[in-house]
Amino acid sequence: MGEKRRQRGKEALRERVKELSCLYGIARIVAREDVSFDETLQGIAELLPPAWQNPEKTSARITLDGRCYETPGFGLATEVLKADVALRGARRGAVEVGCSGACEDSEATFLEEEKSLIEAVAGEVAFFVERREAERDRERLNEQLRHADRLATLGILSAGVAHELNEPLGNILGYAQLAKKCPGLPEQAGKDIDRIEAASLRAREIIKNLLLFARQKTPVRRKANLNDIVSEGMCFFEARCERSGVEITRELEEGLPDVVADADQLNQALVNLVVNALQAMPSGGRLTLRTKSGDGSAALCVEDTGCGMSEEVVKKLFIPFFTTKDIGQGTGLGLPVAHGIVAAHGGWIRVDSEVGKGSTFEIRLPVSRENSEEKK
Ligand code: ADP
Repeated sequence: MGEKRRQRGKEALRERVKELSCLYGIARIVAREDVSFDETLQGIAELLPPAWQNPEKTSARITLDGRCYETPGFGLATEVLKADVALRGARRGAVEVGCSGACEDSEATFLEEEKSLIEAVAGEVAFFVERREAERDRERLNEQLRHADRLATLGILSAGVAHELNEPLGNILGYAQLAKKCPGLPEQAGKDIDRIEAASLRAREIIKNLLLFARQKTPVRRKANLNDIVSEGMCFFEARCERSGVEITRELEEGLPDVVADADQLNQALVNLVVNALQAMPSGGRLTLRTKSGDGSAALCVEDTGCGMSEEVVKKLFIPFFTTKDIGQGTGLGLPVAHGIVAAHGGWIRVDSEVGKGSTFEIRLPVSRENSEEKK
C-alpha cells in the first residue's frame, strides 16, 4: 500500500517536473529576441507534447489570427484540450493539445493539472503576442517620426528654392509676353515665345505645388462644398479632355453637406488628381467625378480608366518626389501635396487601383459642424 502511494507520488512529481520544464522552455524561447514571431509560436507548440502524460500520443497546435503552428499528427487527434488566446478581451486564437487513441491508466484523457497548464501556456502566448505587437507599433511610430523629420527638412529646402525661382520665372513670363506683342515678329519667333510661355506657366504650377508642400501659404477656411469645387475646377479641363478623347462623367450627390475648408487648396488637390488621371489615359478613356456623404464626412472620388498602378507604386505614392514619369512630365509632388492638404483639413485619401483597368482616388473630409447639427 505504502509502496503504491510512493509510486503514485513519484509519478505525480515527474508530471509536475515535466510541466515546469515546459513553462521554463516557453519562458526562455519567448525571451529570445533573435527568434522570429513564427518560429517562437512553432517552438512553443513543440514544447507541449513532452509535458503531457503520453507524449508519444500527444500533439499540439497553436492558432493565431488564422495562422497555424502545429506538431505532426494533430489532425489525427481524437480528443482535444483547448484554451483561448485572448488579447485585451478579444479572442485571437487558441492553444490546443490533442491525444490520439485512448490513454491507458486514467479514466480522463486529460488531467486537471494539464488543464491548468494549457491555460498557463495560452496566457504566455497572449503575453508574447502583446509584447511583440507593442514593439512593432513602437517601431512604426519611430519610423513615422523619422519620416516627418525628413519631410520637414525637405519642406524648408523646397520653400527656399521655390522662393528663389519665383522671381526670375516671373521675369521670363513677363518678358515673353512683352516680346510677343513686338510688331513685325517673325512667325517662328512667335511660336517659340508661345513655348517659353507654356513652359514658364508649367514651372509656375510646380512652384505653387512646392510652396503648398512646404505649407508656406496660410489656409483660409470657409464653408465650402465639394460639388462646387468639382464644377469650378473641372471647367479648366473640359477642352483638354475633349482633345485627348476623355469623356467626363459627373455623379454629384444632391444636397451634399458643406465642409470647412480652404477652397483654393481643395481645388489644387483636385487639379493634381485630375492631371494624374488624364496622364494615365493618353489614348482616351472615362474620367468620373463623384461626390457622396455619410458618417459625418463628405467624399470626392476621382476615377479613371487608365493604366492603373502596381502595388509597388501604390506603396510609394505619397513619398515626396516619387514619380514614374519622364522628366518634364512629373515632379512627384502632386500626391504629397494633395495628401498634405487633405490631412491638414482632418481628412484622408484612399487609393484603389488595378493595373490595366484604372484607379480611383477618394478624398474624405469631415462635414462642417453646423451642417451635421442641421441634419440631426
Ligand atoms: P507626378 O504625377 O508628378 O509623378 P504624383 O505625386 O502626382 O507625381 O504621382 C506620383 C506617381 O503616382 C506618378 O508618377 C504615377 O506613377 C502614379 N500615379 C498617380 N496617379 C495615378 C493615376 N491616376 N493612374 C496611374 N498612376 C498614377
